[in-house]
Amino acid sequence: MNLPEIDIGRSPRDTANPGDITLSAYLAERPGDEFYPSQAPHHPHPSRQHSMYDPLTGLPNRIMLKQALFAALSPAAAQRPIGLCHVDVDGFAAINHILGHDVGDQLLQTIARRISHRLGDGCLLARTGSDEFSVLVTASARTADVGDTAEAILQAIRQPVRLAGRRLHVTASIGVVACSPHLYSAAELMSAAESALAQAKAAGRDRYRRFDPDLHARQQARHEIAWALPQALARGELFVEYQPMVRADDGELHGVEALARWRHPRLGLVAPAQFIPVAEEHGMIGEVGRFVLRTACAQAGVWHTRHPGRRLVMSVNLAPAQTDDPALPVLVAGLLAQHGIDPAMLQLEITESSMMPTAGPALDTLRTLAGLGVRIAIDDFGTGYANLTNLRSMPVHHLKIPRQFVTAPVDEFAEQVDCVLVETVVRLAHSLGLGVIAEGVESQAQAQLLRRLGCDVFQGYVYGRPQSPDAIDARLSASPGRAP
Ligand code: C2E
Ligand code: MG
Ligand code: MG
Repeated sequence: MNLPEIDIGRSPRDTANPGDITLSAYLAERPGDEFYPSQAPHHPHPSRQHSMYDPLTGLPNRIMLKQALFAALSPAAAQRPIGLCHVDVDGFAAINHILGHDVGDQLLQTIARRISHRLGDGCLLARTGSDEFSVLVTASARTADVGDTAEAILQAIRQPVRLAGRRLHVTASIGVVACSPHLYSAAELMSAAESALAQAKAAGRDRYRRFDPDLHARQQARHEIAWALPQALARGELFVEYQPMVRADDGELHGVEALARWRHPRLGLVAPAQFIPVAEEHGMIGEVGRFVLRTACAQAGVWHTRHPGRRLVMSVNLAPAQTDDPALPVLVAGLLAQHGIDPAMLQLEITESSMMPTAGPALDTLRTLAGLGVRIAIDDFGTGYANLTNLRSMPVHHLKIPRQFVTAPVDEFAEQVDCVLVETVVRLAHSLGLGVIAEGVESQAQAQLLRRLGCDVFQGYVYGRPQSPDAIDARLSASPGRAP
């Protein structure tokens, strides 16, 4: 469709060129054109409560939508399925910011008009937030097609809009939920549509997503974790377990990996796979990481004092945000000095993404750490986006082969690509002068094969699960060990 050259952001007085056409002149010529609403979609009767309608678009507001939802969900209603589409304009804040609030208002009126044109009988359109609209689809509007309704709304919004002299391509995201009335309350239905909307946004915008109860439950759990984590640190609910690493040649204890744990008073033991990503997402990983580093270094100091001459490696995981922190080497140097630890006995495990920069603060931090004499290992090597050219120039000492490569059943294992992968990583590491630690070793048969493939150190359930410091202490006391 060819859009007329019209600048709806300007008044007739602003018209500089005789060829330009203003909004009011345009509307006078083409009343009722859907390009811009000549009137709001709905006209609240003056006697009706203003609190029920949005003054900008004339649409019912959130309060009225809720009332309609209550009515549709009440036992007195027909108990037929209903649907809800929750529409949010993508990037609306930027439009407001760049083009001004007047233009933003006009865009919302345009969108309100376009949506209302696409809806059939039995649909109630409401403006439920600044750039949010909701459509209640009742049974008479064939709720089975609530997805079609959402698609029609998306298409209507996608048509270019000319505002403030620009041709704008606006999109929206929609969360869709359809259900039998007895399944949800009004609040639950709205929250489900909001959750589906968040999924549509996360999936890349300009699309609709149906509510996914499983995904929603997982998101709720993540929210709960994010909310509880700061208190967990303050209340001492976090602690550290240590998993043995043994030398491939003689089975002697090489060191331990410090693994964060969280005992939540209600949720029980929360796995690091659950709370570490949430801590990263919410900017709390620095604090969690410092706690683990301090605890592990204090523990290493205790073991070095109790078992002199054992030269036990303490391996601590670092999240990418920690390697970006230029204050990290100062903290590490302080802990090494405080606990009398030989720097070569501290290993820091970084992820492959920390290897991506060829320059910058993360690399400087790693070089400073290596300069202290600390060992660096790349965790789960081969599962991320390794920059192999960096391997030559980076201060790395070990590669850790992830569990995924080594846990296939041993009789199949020899024939599998995993075997080739392990062999390749070992050859790469050894040719660069790096050691190889194989993780997830669960049987002696696996260990035998991994030994033949050249791995230097093993870590896995067959050598011990992550355990308390006392358990490691008992193990150290039981076997005198030999110097590496
Ligand atoms: P990771 O660093 O690769 O740690 C190894 C994980 O594999 C641990 O899981 C360990 O319990 C598990 N594992 C070890 N051997 C076996 C085995 O034989 N079989 C099986 N099935 N699993 C084995 P965990 O403790 O749940 O930790 C998961 C991940 O959480 C860690 O993977 C690490 O990426 C992260 N993580 C844990 N603690 C910290 C921490 O303090 N800081 C950071 N940044 N990440 C941490
Ligand atoms: Mg690790
Ligand atoms: Mg690992």
